[in-house]
Amino acid sequence: MSNISTDLPSKITTDIDFDKPGVQHGALTMPYSHNLSPWGSILMPVSVFAGGTGPTVLLVGGNHGDEYEGPIACMKLIRELDIDKLTGRVIVIPALNYPAVKNGTRLSPIDGKNMNRAFPGDRAGTVTDMIADYVQRFILPLCDAVADIHAGGRMMSFLPTSVIHRLADARHMDRTLEAAKAFNAPNCLVLEELDPQGMLDTAVEELGTLFISTELGGGGSMSVETVRIAYDGMRNLLVHMGVLSEPLRKNGDTRFLETPDGAFVTAEQDGILEFAAELGQKVSAGEAIAYIHDIDRPMAAPAVYRAPLDGIVMHRHVAGLIGRGDCLSVIAVEI
Ligand code: CA
Repeated sequence: MSNISTDLPSKITTDIDFDKPGVQHGALTMPYSHNLSPWGSILMPVSVFAGGTGPTVLLVGGNHGDEYEGPIACMKLIRELDIDKLTGRVIVIPALNYPAVKNGTRLSPIDGKNMNRAFPGDRAGTVTDMIADYVQRFILPLCDAVADIHAGGRMMSFLPTSVIHRLADARHMDRTLEAAKAFNAPNCLVLEELDPQGMLDTAVEELGTLFISTELGGGGSMSVETVRIAYDGMRNLLVHMGVLSEPLRKNGDTRFLETPDGAFVTAEQDGILEFAAELGQKVSAGEAIAYIHDIDRPMAAPAVYRAPLDGIVMHRHVAGLIGRGDCLSVIAVEI
């Protein structure tokens, strides 16, 4: 996207000098005037580790504010990265949608926006738009690889997986597959996005830059294992890119999955969700995977939702209540 200009300034300022060697912990500062802070600002933490000449890797958590592995693993890396072992630059943003992370919600409480639908952003837009614009114009052009750590959030849960996209460019695709193997999540979903417009993923990939994301656990919390996968995965990406010199943290091989047409199961009614299969369970086409009960008609049989194909349950709606139109489950198949 070479048509994106850096001529116009962002309203966001920073005490970070991205070109300076060494370790810097600072903030992206954006104006935010509201009732309780008329001349106030939002200070969104960012850290930069620059040690010698080499590639630049951006590590992102908190793109959605109710997904916790990313912020936790990014903060741990900020505390533990050793500049003396780096050959290149690591930029860490633990809370990309900082207001959403502070609020524990997927979307920003300030403007109601989804950070992962806000790219390429708008310098003169709302807070979410301004952050996306800054990242798009001033950070992504510095990067050789980006990891954006997602999880299921409050409403969904996933079999722990890295996520990459099917890319038209064969060389870009091969590089991405190699990075996903190094990242070493137990699973890697090779995905075609339902709606790629506005995603950080798309912004990065359109620059020809390496991008890897994850879907780790969910339910608005985290586990020992999902935090480990995020942390080890990001360190492994740094090693793979040649930025960090240490052994890869291997924990078995990555199983590659895909979601064929029809893999997404959508709820057709509101009600109480009873899941009949566990995440990771192998299911056969036609097998019952969930029921939706109507509390106002206890005598009525629940609606039965069946596996659309033979595969593995890789996603489930996790909240006890489900609504018509919600994604109920996704069944993936091994590649
Ligand atoms: Ca997410």
